[in-house]
Amino acid sequence: MKKVSVIGAGFAGLTVALRLAQKGFEVDLYESSSRVGGLLGTDVTDYGIAERAANALICTEKAVGLFKELGITPVTPLQTSKKRFLFRETPRAWPLSFVETVGFLGRLLPRALGGKKNLKPRDNETLQTWGLRNIGPHATQYILGPAMQGIYGNEISGLSAGLILGPIFSKKKKDKYKGLLTGPYGMQDLVDHLLAKLKELNVNVRLNSSVDPKTLSGPLVVATSAQAAANLLKASHPDTSELLKRIRMSSLMSVTLFFSKPQTSYQGFGCLIPRGYGLKSLGVLMNSYIFKGRDKTYNETWILGGVEEEALLDLSDSEILTLIAEERHRILGHKESLLDYRINRWKNALPYYDLQLEETLRKLNREASKDLYLHGNYLGGIGLSKILERSDMLAEEIANQHG
Ligand SMILES: Cc1cc2nc3c(=O)[nH]c(=O)nc-3n(C[C@H](O)[C@H](O)[C@H](O)COP(=O)(O)OP(=O)(O)OC[C@H]3O[C@@H](n4cnc5c(N)ncnc54)[C@H](O)[C@@H]3O)c2cc1C
Repeated sequence: MKKVSVIGAGFAGLTVALRLAQKGFEVDLYESSSRVGGLLGTDVTDYGIAERAANALICTEKAVGLFKELGITPVTPLQTSKKRFLFRETPRAWPLSFVETVGFLGRLLPRALGGKKNLKPRDNETLQTWGLRNIGPHATQYILGPAMQGIYGNEISGLSAGLILGPIFSKKKKDKYKGLLTGPYGMQDLVDHLLAKLKELNVNVRLNSSVDPKTLSGPLVVATSAQAAANLLKASHPDTSELLKRIRMSSLMSVTLFFSKPQTSYQGFGCLIPRGYGLKSLGVLMNSYIFKGRDKTYNETWILGGVEEEALLDLSDSEILTLIAEERHRILGHKESLLDYRINRWKNALPYYDLQLEETLRKLNREASKDLYLHGNYLGGIGLSKILERSDMLAEEIANQHG
């Protein structure tokens, strides 16, 4: 049986290892920490569960298929989660005035009717510039900005339009957006089922490992963060390592708060917060209005961070709780007392989807190496369903080249 090594057992490493094992490869999966899952994990508290990072996958066909083959009964969102808020003085379902909406449509529609190509991002264009060009200043500030910050954790003035919107304009067949998907016990459920399946398929999972790629033979998948991949490949693949080193990382923090009683003024998925109000929070997820039966008391998850706000992660727990209590009062107008909380500080955890990454990925694609395959959230898809897609694609490619 052909041997493959996978380094890094986050969602990327776990899913590519699964697909390779299913194709008949003997897989060694190396993980430097004492657990698998990487950014994915769920804490169980007396008041309900708290996700450490991601709270769900986009419900694509591949994601549904994965849940099915792992035997996880998927939990889908509640009806209340269909409502989403954007902050503009208060949380609103639609943040633009009538006149601004007319301005937004007046700019967007003629371009859209003229064909998709009119809206295609230009090379080296930021999301902000793209927005000002195609949807106008108000929709850019109050809709595009907060929405993209909520996913990429950074301001749109630095984000690359080509990387983020480019896939919409590619000819590749796209999965339809059909909501979200998670396990009954949260994302840890998914991680546990993935690990159980890997063991069933005899994948050698090596925790607390500090493997050197130079000591491995045969195809190698490096499925760590960009920064960790740069360090790992320094000696064996110096050119690739130099390119990976250029990828800037950004930090995020997720803070789950359990309250003595629910706020009922805003019942929905959550609220996204634009820049320009002097608020540090990027958004809030109203967990109890998203998924049913996973908590004993009402809880929310607040997301903060980004390259401009790295220092927030150095604040103490009590400083963070005070900051969020103040912002929560300003945003939602509520001050319920707190029963419990969980803070997860993710230092340098996410790639910064900026113009520098756009350029680096162009060069990385040219830097092909026979036995080396890169995987992870810096290669064009930051979300889990995109990572899953890449796992399938890589396993297919490795099977074709080495099977
Ligand atoms: C707060 C937050 C909220 C998010 N919400 C969502 C969401 O709701 N939906 C969604 O789809 N996505 C979400 N994301 C993004 C998503 O969670 C990540 O992009 C994804 O989990 C990354 O998976 P990965 O396997 O690429 O990387 P990681 O999870 O970082 O895994 C990399 C693994 O490699 C290991 N490693 C590192 N160096 C080495 C080494 N030298 N040797 C061996 N192992 C090594 C690490 O320990 C880790 O286990 C969120 C992210 C954050 C931070």
